[in-house]
Amino acid sequence: MAKKDNRRYIFLQCTICKNKNYTSKKNYTNNKERLELNKFCNTCKKHTLHKEVK
Ligand SMILES: [Zn+2]
Repeated sequence: MAKKDNRRYIFLQCTICKNKNYTSKKNYTNNKERLELNKFCNTCKKHTLHKEVK
């Protein structure tokens, strides 16, 4: 039986400089809301809020 795969690749974009710094996989069945994570941005040289983009 084939497993249903709802995972998609997404980017995490810095909200300050708009750089796409991280890629991630997301499971859409468990997590339908947009991801927002505090991550280190190499362009801003500090931790900034990163939001999910496609
Ligand atoms: Zn940045």
